[in-house]
Amino acid sequence: MRKDLELYDVTIIGGGAAGLFTAFYSGMREMKTKIIEYLPFLGGKVPYYYPDKVIRDIGGIHAITGAKLTEQLIEQGKTFDPTIVLDTQATEMERLDNGNFLLTDHRGDQHYTKTIIIAAGFGPLRSVELDLPNAEDYKNHNLHYYIREMETFRDKNVVISGGGNSAIDWANELEPIAKSVTLLYRRDEFSGHESNITKMKNSSVTIVTSSVIEQLHGDGHRLSSITIHNTESGERKELALDDLVVNHGFIIDLGVIGNWGLEMKDQTIQVDASMQTNIPGIYVVGDLANYPAKLPLIAGAFYEGPTAVNSANQHIVPDEELEKLYSTHMDAFIR
Ligand SMILES: Cc1cc2nc3c(=O)[nH]c(=O)nc-3n(C[C@H](O)[C@H](O)[C@H](O)COP(=O)(O)OP(=O)(O)OC[C@H]3O[C@@H](n4cnc5c(N)ncnc54)[C@H](O)[C@@H]3O)c2cc1C
Repeated sequence: MRKDLELYDVTIIGGGAAGLFTAFYSGMREMKTKIIEYLPFLGGKVPYYYPDKVIRDIGGIHAITGAKLTEQLIEQGKTFDPTIVLDTQATEMERLDNGNFLLTDHRGDQHYTKTIIIAAGFGPLRSVELDLPNAEDYKNHNLHYYIREMETFRDKNVVISGGGNSAIDWANELEPIAKSVTLLYRRDEFSGHESNITKMKNSSVTIVTSSVIEQLHGDGHRLSSITIHNTESGERKELALDDLVVNHGFIIDLGVIGNWGLEMKDQTIQVDASMQTNIPGIYVVGDLANYPAKLPLIAGAFYEGPTAVNSANQHIVPDEELEKLYSTHMDAFIR
C-alpha cells in the first residue's frame, strides 16, 4: 500500500440514486466519504435511461422527472463535500491485515478505505439489444434503447418492444405526445404495475401480443418498418414506424466485483437486514442488494443507504450506540 494514500471511512462504489443518498447520509454521520463512479456523470440509471420520465412512487413527492430528481439527489449527495471520482471503474478489492480495504480502479489508481458500500446497480449500464444482423446500423438514429428526450417522439409513430414495467411506463408516457404508440410483446401477459397496465389498456396504445421483431427495414441509417412474427399464429406482417424503442431489460454484468468473494444470488449480492455482505466491512445498497422481498425501487434505496452507513459506522466504532439522527438542525442545511 502506498503510504500517501488518504484513508476514507467509507468508499461508495456507484454514484446512482442509491450511492448519492448514501453519501449524503454518511456525511450526516461525519464519515469521510468517497464516491467512485464509472460514468462521467452522477445519477446512474435515472439520467441515463429516463431523464424525462415522471417518477410517481417516492413518498412525499407526487411527481418528479428523472432529471429533476437527479439534480436534487446530486445537490443532496454533495452536502457534506464527499470526494467524487468520475469516469472510474472500481475493479479490484483487497482486504488488508489491519481490516481496511484497498480498492484498485481500471487505471491502476488505488483507494484506501475502512469500509465499502457497493451501490453499483447492475454494473456499468448496458441494455439488452436486438439480436438482428443490421440492428447496429440503426442504433442511436431511430432505434432507441433508452429515452433521453420525450420531445424527440412528438407526432411520431412509435413502436415499443417489451412488456415489463419500463416498456409499459414508456407507452403511457409517450401516448399523449406521439402520433401513435404500438406496444409489441412476445408474451400475452404483462408484468408491469396493475394500474399502469390498466391505464395503457384504456388508452389509444395499440397492443400486439405474442409477437417478436424478426427483421428491420430501412436505408441503413433510419428504420422505416419492421417485420413482426406472431409466434402463436405464425403470421408475419410489416409495420411502418418512425421510431422503435426496445425495452428488453439490462445486462447485469458486475465485472470483477463478481470475483471479490461476495455471496451472490441471481447476479446480485446477498445482504442481511443491516446491508452487510458475507465480508465484514462491505455493504450493498440499491438494485444490487439482494434480501427477502427486495424491491428494486428508488424509495427502497433511500432506506438501505442509511442502514448501510450505520452498519459501516458500527463496524468502525463497534462500541458506539446507533444514534437516531434527524436532519433538522444540521448546519449544512442552513444556507
Ligand atoms: C426505464 C426505467 C424506469 C424506472 N422507473 C422507476 C420509477 O418510476 N420509480 C422507481 O422507484 N424506480 C424506477 N426504476 C428503477 C430505478 O431506476 C432503480 O431502482 C435505481 O436507479 C437504482 O439505483 P442504484 O443507484 O442502485 O443503481 P444505478 O442507478 O444503476 O447506479 C449504479 C451506478 O454504479 C455505477 N457503477 C457500476 N459498476 C461500477 C464500478 N465497478 N465502479 C464504479 N461505478 C460503477 C454505474 O455506472 C451507475 O452509475 C426505473 C428503471 C428503469 C430502467
